[in-house]
Amino acid sequence: MARRIAEERILPVRAELDEKEEFPWTIMKDLADSDMFRIFIPEEYEGLGGGCLDLCLVVEELSRVCSGVSVSYAASALGTFSLLDYGTEAQKQKYLPNIANGKKLAAFALTEPTAGSDASAIKTTAEKVKDGYLINGTKQFITNGGEAELYTVIVLTDKERGARGASAFLVEKDTPGFSFGKKEKKMGIRASATRELIFRNCLVPEENLIGKRGMGFIITMKLLDKSRPGIGAQAVGIAQGALEAAVDYARQRIQFGHPIIAIQAVQHILADMAIQVEAARALVYAVARTVDSGAKHVSEESAMAKVFASDVAMKVTTDAVQVFGGSGYMLDYPIEKMMRDAKITQIYEGTNQVLRNAIAFELRKRKGRRE
Ligand SMILES: Cc1cc2nc3c(=O)[nH]c(=O)nc-3n(C[C@H](O)[C@H](O)[C@H](O)COP(=O)(O)OP(=O)(O)OC[C@H]3O[C@@H](n4cnc5c(N)ncnc54)[C@H](O)[C@@H]3O)c2cc1C
Repeated sequence: MARRIAEERILPVRAELDEKEEFPWTIMKDLADSDMFRIFIPEEYEGLGGGCLDLCLVVEELSRVCSGVSVSYAASALGTFSLLDYGTEAQKQKYLPNIANGKKLAAFALTEPTAGSDASAIKTTAEKVKDGYLINGTKQFITNGGEAELYTVIVLTDKERGARGASAFLVEKDTPGFSFGKKEKKMGIRASATRELIFRNCLVPEENLIGKRGMGFIITMKLLDKSRPGIGAQAVGIAQGALEAAVDYARQRIQFGHPIIAIQAVQHILADMAIQVEAARALVYAVARTVDSGAKHVSEESAMAKVFASDVAMKVTTDAVQVFGGSGYMLDYPIEKMMRDAKITQIYEGTNQVLRNAIAFELRKRKGRRE
């Protein structure tokens, strides 16, 4: 069904969405009508009770056609996972049904102007007051910013406590003191909305705290462990789309009297692209299954899936542009968009350098082979 929506609904408008940097509300409605937002929500909250693999399959299919659309969909899952894993029953009852039916989108806000890879440098604070917590600060580069109704926001509740000083809060869009700054103009995934969130004495009730006070960074790490295979799936989808487009083009482009697919040099580029896509897909699916098994320690595998698949997406889309020759450089074909879209998968949810650090850190700690 995700493939059908991608081909029938997204394909005809993807170039326009990209050019106009238009948020894909019509497609979000199509996805909602097809119950796609129910996939990552448990059945007791009007979801379908799917897991990480189910979500990856949808994200991959949407990304094969347009990852600006797919990330707008996936960011709603990102904004919901902490609530699913650490929220109270009352919070779940209140918010999850409307995320499941797609009436409301969610978002996750950690990054700030001074805190990207170094998340511990966040400055946004939540001060305990009589009626709850007063949030002050600015978040940057937030996917679905301004479009989502519900935000999971990571803030400092106890500055002096370091890594134990952050907490996660649910903030509704219309809360007084909460507003949106500039919408970013981007290289790729241009249909998605990336905005600043501004908090000025924004009062949120105590019951909006997710988990316990001081658990903000633990919640964030667990959330990213679960969501990184989704970025891997986004990368696999982009790479798959580029591979298919390159093969089609190579079949019909005639040079030296025959289609360029008859040239062995081109065949080898295509074969290498196919090998890499298949390997990335296998790793992403395997890690998604590990996440779904409930395994406790998935940080390393999850980072590997994201890093490997995103590097594959960058390589495969770059090679696809090469197969297209000069036409690949032109906006008339979808391939340059795929190359622009692939780049972000190496950057967000932890840059590939930072994730390599994390993988190496685990390797250094460990003696022998991991069970
Ligand atoms: C389109 C888009 C959407 C986003 N959506 C969200 C969102 O929804 N929610 C959210 O919270 N954030 C979001 N982000 C933020 C994203 O996660 C950060 O941009 C990313 O983590 C990198 O942080 P930074 O941009 O500050 O780069 P920096 O941390 O400044 O990194 C700059 C360079 O230095 C390298 N570097 C930094 N530290 C190290 C290190 N220790 N070792 C090796 N290399 C290092 C990096 O790899 C990178 O190459 C989004 C970003 C973009 C561009």
